[in-house]
Amino acid sequence: MKGLFPITRRKKESIPALFAAVILIIAAWFFASDPERGPGGLSVPSSDAVGSETGDISVYYLDVGQGDSELIRLPTGENILIDAGLSDGAEHLTAYLEQLGVHKIDYLIATHPHADHIGGMAKVISELEIGKIYLPKVADDQVPTTRVYENMLDAVKKKGLRLTQGKAGMTVLEQDNARLEFLAPAKDEYNDLNNYSIVAKLTFGKRTFLFTGDAEKESEQQMVKKYGDSLRSDVLKVGHHGSSSSTTAGFLKAVLPQYAIISCGKDNDYGHPHKEILSRLSAAKVKVYRTDEQGTILVSSDGTDLTVKTGLPLLAAS
Ligand SMILES: [Zn+2]
Repeated sequence: MKGLFPITRRKKESIPALFAAVILIIAAWFFASDPERGPGGLSVPSSDAVGSETGDISVYYLDVGQGDSELIRLPTGENILIDAGLSDGAEHLTAYLEQLGVHKIDYLIATHPHADHIGGMAKVISELEIGKIYLPKVADDQVPTTRVYENMLDAVKKKGLRLTQGKAGMTVLEQDNARLEFLAPAKDEYNDLNNYSIVAKLTFGKRTFLFTGDAEKESEQQMVKKYGDSLRSDVLKVGHHGSSSSTTAGFLKAVLPQYAIISCGKDNDYGHPHKEILSRLSAAKVKVYRTDEQGTILVSSDGTDLTVKTGLPLLAAS
C-alpha cells in the first residue's frame, strides 16, 4: 500500500489542486479493493500486506492438523501467537511464520500444557524473538511430565525468558483500537487440565474474537456467570476442537458469534468436531469454518467489517 498517501510530499500547490488531490485520494481509498490481498486469497499475503500498512487486524486460524494455533497480527506490527500445535508440525509452523514475515512474537500464549497446543512451542521460542509468554498455573499434582512440556521449559530457560501466569481478569494489551484480555481460568484448581485453558478475548474496534483453548463446561459456566453478555464475540474459536465437552448451550447463547472456527485434524481419532456441536452451531445460525476442511482460515477486520478467507496454503504436513 506504499504510495497510497502521497500527502507527505512538501510541494507548494494551489488550493484547488490540493482540494482535487484530496478528493481523488478519498475516492481511491473508498473504491480500492485492497490490491495486495487480491480476490480469492490463494496465496500467502506478503509480509508487508498486513498490520501497519493497512490498519487492519489479521487473525490466522492455522491449520496445524489435530491441534490449535492462532496468529494475530496487529496494525502496530506486533504479533500474538496463541498455541503452537503438535511438535510434528513445528517445522511447518515456523516456516509458515517466516513466510508471513513474522520474526517476533510479542505475546506468546500457551493456553494449557497439552501436546496439541504446546508441541511446537520449543521451536517457536528457539527460533523467533519472543516478548512475553503466558501460561496458566496448574495444580502441582497436575503439572505435566511430558517431553513437550519439558522441551518448552528448556527453550524458555535457554533464552533467559520468564513465564507469566495467565488468569481471568488480566489485560495483556491495550492500545488505541485493540485490547486483549484473559477471561479464564478463574480458579486455581480444576479436575481436568483442559479447564485451565487461558481464554482470551480480543477486541479490535467494534469487532471481537474469542479464543477458548480447550476450556470445557466448568470453565464456560464460570465465564457465563462472571461476564454474562459481555462474552458476546463476533468470532468464536470453538473450544476443545468441537468436542461435546465444550460449547455448552448457555455459553453459546452468551457469546452469540457470527462465525465459529473449529481447529481439528482431518479424520482425527477423536471424532472432532462432534455432531452435537455442529447441530448446536447450525441451530444458532452460526457460520462454521473448519481447518480440517478449509485449511488455514484468515479473518481480517478494519475494526468494523469482517472478512473471512480460506484457500490459503495448508500448514499441516500432508
Ligand atoms: Zn486440544
